[in-house]
Amino acid sequence: MINVLSAAARDDARSAEPDPRAVAEHVVARGSPLDLVAAPDWFSYTTFDTFDRCPRQYALRYLCRLPSDQPRPAAEFGSAAHATFEAFTRDRRRRLAAGEPSPGRADLQRFFDSAWARSPLAAEADAETWRQRAEPMLDRFWAAESVDQPQTVGEELRFRLRLPLDLDTPVAIGGFIDRVDRLPSGSVELIDYKTGRACPPEEAESSLQLSIYALACRDALHLGPPARSTLYFVEEGQRFSTERPDAALNATRTDLAYRARQIRGSDFAPTPSLRSCGWCDFTAMCPVSAH
Ligand code: SF4
Repeated sequence: MINVLSAAARDDARSAEPDPRAVAEHVVARGSPLDLVAAPDWFSYTTFDTFDRCPRQYALRYLCRLPSDQPRPAAEFGSAAHATFEAFTRDRRRRLAAGEPSPGRADLQRFFDSAWARSPLAAEADAETWRQRAEPMLDRFWAAESVDQPQTVGEELRFRLRLPLDLDTPVAIGGFIDRVDRLPSGSVELIDYKTGRACPPEEAESSLQLSIYALACRDALHLGPPARSTLYFVEEGQRFSTERPDAALNATRTDLAYRARQIRGSDFAPTPSLRSCGWCDFTAMCPVSAH
């Protein structure tokens, strides 16, 4: 039986702070999460990507707010790598501003050791395997950075992109850009670090993530449209750069508004697939899981 609440019951339910488990049970019983929580007005690349893979997974994660309780060692490794590169370029900016020499390979190692000490991965049984995997990554990063000496504008740049769906419905797209460099031309390059295997170059061309970040550079951070938007696969030392001209960024705005409306109007039905369910934290409560 489909679980439907009356309009009055919806208003009562939404006025209280919802319990994530109660909302999840309502969803699993084929009720809409929007019976119990307000329609979302905040989105990010990750939320759009999750919704594309499975609307039910999106609802359980971002509307019910169920926590992830599965270990994600690859994600922890990526977090340690990101923290290392952030600390390195931040320190380089500071030193250059102070007229000091740039940090060296030993400094990069020190930043990694610090990030590793804070990582849950360091306490895992296979910690040494992961740690050894970092060494060639650090060598490649250092080799590239010591040759180019780029002028970094900032790291982990937080943005909030306002996107009115209509006169009464403002929503926002949020996120963090790993790094922005100033190019000799005066324009900027945005960089997103990736650990793991490099994607085919054409995926950078169609990357929604790069489109959102490029739009944020122009319309939220006011750095102008980036001359280059780059996926930097740090373990393989590969960079795939694309251009997002103004017309493409305007099209991205339209696309994001469409995506936000699609989510707000969704019934959050599950769309099982081996790819989606294999990375889902909610297979145990999902009756149609393909995993
Ligand atoms: S288990 Fe599969 S179908 Fe169910 S919510 Fe997760 S991704 Fe969707």
